[in-house]
Parts: sequence; C-alpha cells; structure tokens
Amino acid sequence: MGDSRVFDVVIVGGGPGGYPTAVRASQHGLSVALIERHKLGGECTNYGCVPTKALLRAAKLARDLVRYAWARGSVDGASVLEWARSVADGVRLGVGRLLEHYGVTVISDEATGVDGNCVITRGGRYCGRRGVIIATGSEPRRLSNIPFDGVNVIDNRGLISLEKPPESILIVGAGYVGVEFSYALASLGSNVHLVEIMDRPLPALPREASLQALRALRSLGVRVFLSHKVVNAELNKGKVVVTLEGRKGREIVEVEKVLIAVGRTPNSNLKGLRESGVKIDTRGFIETDCHMRTGNPMIYATGDVRGPPLLAHKAFVEALIAADNIAGYDACLKDFVIPEVVYIRPEIVRVYRPTNCESASVRVRVDALARARIEGEGGLVKLTYEKSTGRIVELLMIFEGASEVAGEAAALVANGLTIYEAAKIVHPHPTMSEALWEALHIASGSPVHLVDVRRRAQ
Ligand SMILES: Cc1cc2nc3c(=O)[nH]c(=O)nc-3n(C[C@H](O)[C@H](O)[C@H](O)COP(=O)(O)OP(=O)(O)OC[C@H]3O[C@@H](n4cnc5c(N)ncnc54)[C@H](O)[C@@H]3O)c2cc1C
Repeated sequence: MGDSRVFDVVIVGGGPGGYPTAVRASQHGLSVALIERHKLGGECTNYGCVPTKALLRAAKLARDLVRYAWARGSVDGASVLEWARSVADGVRLGVGRLLEHYGVTVISDEATGVDGNCVITRGGRYCGRRGVIIATGSEPRRLSNIPFDGVNVIDNRGLISLEKPPESILIVGAGYVGVEFSYALASLGSNVHLVEIMDRPLPALPREASLQALRALRSLGVRVFLSHKVVNAELNKGKVVVTLEGRKGREIVEVEKVLIAVGRTPNSNLKGLRESGVKIDTRGFIETDCHMRTGNPMIYATGDVRGPPLLAHKAFVEALIAADNIAGYDACLKDFVIPEVVYIRPEIVRVYRPTNCESASVRVRVDALARARIEGEGGLVKLTYEKSTGRIVELLMIFEGASEVAGEAAALVANGLTIYEAAKIVHPHPTMSEALWEALHIASGSPVHLVDVRRRAQ
C-alpha cells in the first residue's frame, strides 16, 4: 500500500468545481487534500474558457485591423496560439499559488475509486473525516463515425495545442464552443466549415442569438452547414475527407483538420461510487440535493460532473456551497440564474428564469447609442417581463461588452426586480450598458434615446 493519509476534506479534481472548494474549506479551518491527475485549473483554465477567450481577444483585434481604415498591422496566428497557452499557463500557476497560500495539499495522482469517505488513487488512499468532493468534470464527446486520432481529427485540447491555426478546418457542432472556435479561427485566417445537425447555430439560445451568430460567422466567410450531419470521415494524404449529408443531398469537404465540438461526457466512472450510494443518472451525471450532497451524505459533487449547464461560473458557485456544507453550515442552491455567454463579436448573453405568468417582451436595436457609434457595432436587447407584475424574467443582450453586464442582468432576474425598479439604476455614459437601460425604459413606456419601439405580446 502506498501513501495513506487522513484530512478533513478530500477533493478529486482541480478545476472550477474543485479548487474553489479547497480554498473555501481551508478558509473554514479544515485540512484539505486535492487530487488532480493532469493540470490544476481543469478544462476551463487549460483548454477551455481561458485560452479560447484569449484567442477571441486576438481574433477581434485581427478583425479591427481589417475593419478600420485607420488601423495598420497584422496578427500572427502562430504567435496568438502560443500567447493563448501562456495566458492559460499564467492562470494555472495562479491556481497553484492560491492553493499553496491556503495550505491545501495537492496530490498529483489519479483517483480510481472511492470507498466510503476515502478516495483510492493509483498511489494511495486518502480519507476525508468530513467528506469527499467529486469534482472530476467532463471529457470531450467523440462521434463513432469520425475516427479520432488527435492529429487530424481533434478536440478543443488538440486545437489549443496546435502550433498554428490550420489552413482549413471543419468544426462539428455549432453550440457555443463550435461557434467561438469558428469565429476565432476564421478571423485568424483559417478557412472554416461549420456543421450543425439542427437548423440553426446555438440551438439552445433564442432565435435572435442564432441569427446574430450566423451573420457574424458568414461575414467572416465561414461556410455554415445547417441541418447537416457528418456521415463519413477518412484520412487521405494528410487531409480529412468528410462527407456531409443534408436535406438536399451529400457534399464532400476536404480539410486539414476536423474539430469535434459536440458536447461533453461526465467523468463519473470512479469504482465504488454507485456502491457507496451515489446516484448517477442515465447520462452519467451525479445526482445531488441543493447542498451538493449525493445519495451518500459523506460524498458531494460539484461542477460539470453534477450536470448541466456545463459552465465554470456554475461550478464555482457549487464549489462554495459544497465547502460551506462540509464545514457544517447550511448552504443550499436553488432558483439559480446562470448567465450564458457567447464571446464572439458582438457578444451574446442570455439570463433567464422560468415563470408561469403571462409575459410580454420588447426587442430593441441599440445601434444609435453613442457607444455603439464609437465601437462601430450596435446590437440588440430583448427584455421579457411578467405582464402583471413587471418582473424581469429574461434578458437577451447582443452587443460588444455584453459579457461584462451579464452579472447585472443576472442580479435583476434573480432578485425579481421589476422593469420600473431596474430602470432607476444609473448606467454610465457612454457605455453599451446603456442598451440595457434603454430597453428597461422602453418596456416601462418611456424611451430615452431610442424611438423604434416594437412591443410584442407573448
Ligand atoms: C472549449 C471550451 C470553452 C469553454 N469556455 C467556457 C467559458 O468561457 N465560460 C464558462 O463558464 N465555461 C466554459 N467552458 C466550460 C468549463 O470549462 C467547464 O464548465 C468547467 O471547466 C467545469 O469545471 P469542473 O471543475 O467541473 O471540471 P474540469 O474543468 O473538467 O475539471 C475536472 C478536473 O478533474 C480532473 N480529474 C478528472 N478525473 C480525475 C481523476 N479520476 N483523478 C484525478 N483528477 C481527475 C481533471 O484532470 C480536471 O482537471 C468551456 C469549455 C470548453 C470545452
């Protein structure tokens, strides 16, 4: 038997569902071990949120150089990829320093199973007196008809590791990951083909978001195949020959790389998990209550492995809830409003909470705002509210910088503010956040700068 130690808390996984749990548990005075088999920071820091947003930052600069007659210069795709990785490295090192600061014991090993409140790894056994947290995240999904080789057919990890943007790429899946990579790579000079089985990109978001994404991608020359699926993919002289099938027949596309972006599979296959009383649903996600507790009161789960939406900011919040409960507090997560963001240009944000009341919505173009003119980029806000109370139930914001207002939008929706209350919030001028303010004023009947008011009963 190798290493064997006892801590108050043992966490498996060092991503957004794991490392904040370690920090918060340590702040509560508990001794903490965190087991990570690969890189601290998880998918988000190393291959997801951070490097993709770095790529998009560079992509937008590349677009600006083309867009503005007064701009000069060019963007080198190979250097951009290297820089995006270095940004991710910096964030990962920061996570390591944070854990060190809080006295967390980081164990670089792979957990293979659980046994009650103990975690079995390849090299040891670590027990948590107060409990164990499973924050093992998720893996990129594969498609059976596209042979994955990690070289020509790759996932987000392979893409972030490339030396330079491919000359041509076919991206399978137009969820936010596929759309963001399409936008970034096309801006950096790749010839991009995007395939989606549904009839629009971003099918989980409202139609306005799909239309905007389509417009943005097509303006970059991305060939978007909607209602299409990949029926075959073969390697031929270093190229991938892909057969697509749509309503009108088949088409063959030859590309340097194929990126699979069709969702994620949860990492819930630790031995002994089910036997310990942990319930796992048919898709492989671990079921918990609002305290993040699984069917076994000593085992908690957070982040992607706990289920959708698979987003880092959702994982962060769950991580803190789990740590608070394991420390003896009573923390519960209910009626959670989670912003969804697509970081292309213009950015797309949606916040939403379900309602049983009849609702109405206003849709406002915000191209006439002073900031929109400065940025050379307008957009749209769609605001939906309950007719009887005026409570805001959904905000769709499509404008550059919308991601920075997503927290405010979530606060409005989560706290049940009415359009009248929210319209009193002062927004700085000239900013794109005024788009939200204008929409609130239009909804409450008194537009300030914008006159094109279109009301729609739902
Ligand atoms: C391309 C891409 C872009 C994204 N962009 C965004 C974004 O902009 N914003 C956003 O909110 N979300 C984004 N996401 C989603 C985000 O990355 C995830 O929601 C988030 O990483 C989930 O955190 P997690 O800790 O649950 O899982 P992960 O980040 O997957 O972390 C799990 C960790 O556990 C480790 N692990 C797994 N099994 C074991 C084991 N048996 N033993 C030891 N260690 C183990 C893994 O190595 C990993 O480090 C993006 C995802 C992708 C793929």
